Amino acid sequence: MRRRLLEALDYATTIRQRLTVYYETAYRMSANFIDQVRRQGIVGSGGAGFPAYAKLKQPVDLFIVNGAECEPLLHKDKELMKAFGDEILSGMARIRDHLGASEAVLGIKEKYHDVIDALQAKLPEKIRIHPLGDFYPAGDEFVLVYEVTGKVIPRGGLPLHVGIVVMNVETVLDVALDRPVTHKYLTVGGAVHDPKTVRAPIGASIREVIDACGGANVAPYAVLSGGVMMGKLVRNIDDPITKTTGGLLVFPDDHPLIAKYRRTYTEVNLIGKSACDQCSFCTELCPRYLLGHPIEPHLAMRALGFSHEKMSLVVGTHFCCECNLCSLIACPEDLDPKNVCVQNKQELRAQKIMYPEDAPVRPPHGMLDGRRTPVSRLIVKLGLKHFENRGPLVSISLNPERVVILLKQHVGAPATAVVKMGDRVQEGDVIATVPENQLGVPLHASMAGMVNDVTDAFVEIRRE
Ligand code: SF4
Ligand code: SF4
Repeated sequence: MRRRLLEALDYATTIRQRLTVYYETAYRMSANFIDQVRRQGIVGSGGAGFPAYAKLKQPVDLFIVNGAECEPLLHKDKELMKAFGDEILSGMARIRDHLGASEAVLGIKEKYHDVIDALQAKLPEKIRIHPLGDFYPAGDEFVLVYEVTGKVIPRGGLPLHVGIVVMNVETVLDVALDRPVTHKYLTVGGAVHDPKTVRAPIGASIREVIDACGGANVAPYAVLSGGVMMGKLVRNIDDPITKTTGGLLVFPDDHPLIAKYRRTYTEVNLIGKSACDQCSFCTELCPRYLLGHPIEPHLAMRALGFSHEKMSLVVGTHFCCECNLCSLIACPEDLDPKNVCVQNKQELRAQKIMYPEDAPVRPPHGMLDGRRTPVSRLIVKLGLKHFENRGPLVSISLNPERVVILLKQHVGAPATAVVKMGDRVQEGDVIATVPENQLGVPLHASMAGMVNDVTDAFVEIRRE
């Protein structure tokens, strides 16, 4: 950017001209950068897939990169930081400068000494590493911001509200590589023959990716996509990989964790109603409650007792981040306060019931430091000891016969296909777009081939 600015300034002779050129060029280039990130189709690579360009529209004080990766068994970000340290640091510097932030901070688990040492040796100016404890959910944006700065993001707010932008490691890598997002890095672990971290084409099936890692070593098996704490049970093994698939974990079908993921809301509510003893352990361990947010899952559980056909609603469940700590770790009765909070939250949203804005704000809980849940405890409590592995990043040859690229892979407006059946595409070609005035990003072909099907929900490309 600096070189291009100087070139532009060479043509201006007077101070006034030079100032005009400076501001116009800087504005254009910064708009170009936002446009570049949008055109690349970059979205947050975990969670809901928030379009990355939308975080680049206003200056902030601090830029934080989330390398916390606190889900047990997932370690794709660690592998990326090992393999692409230079690219990630250069992406951080680029985004920091664009945002006008005073510095960029990379939050990494302190236990990854090798990664920290390697990066520390080449840290540019105004980039530093913040070592994090090995607890869950250190990667939750609210928790991460608190750990790095001591600031609490207001309830229902964003990091932007405290002058911060947070992006994850793979997003920053995508920005640095300046190429369309056609593939996704994934940890494939658990009960597979050859656990690995791989780069898979978006739209390949979950089954193909697991098979590329030697396949399941148990039968029958079930798959959690995105992690054991915040992931989802895969209902159809032939579903496609998307931009937000963070990892695939295979378990024996009768693993207790899988049984929990299979419980229906009716079961969750009936068992909860009859067995909750209101011990409030779920609230006492809730990371958002500990930050001072008004979420108390035991109150949502209590309300089940007053629910008949419809659930009695409890305000404050708005602020549940669905970390699952209350259900999988805190509750001694094996109940599911998380899913009760989720149902509450959905109904509050449907009925447009807001949390009162003028309600008092609580400071973080005095016991916050002592109530962090170590990842090692999750591993023991959830029966994961047997599935721990390091699954290094390796290059695999995954050449699917077809890819199915979903048109809704991000927060905002779904993309609309701009290709039709019979079109030939190359890897990286744009196949779907979102109007410029709407939140969203384009989608790209993840392999060369012929467009075989186009619907409102997906584009299918077949290898020729
Ligand atoms: S899932 Fe449970 S522990 Fe996590 S934020 Fe929601 S209520 Fe709190
Ligand atoms: S921890 Fe379990 S039993 Fe205790 S209040 Fe929460 S849901 Fe009820």
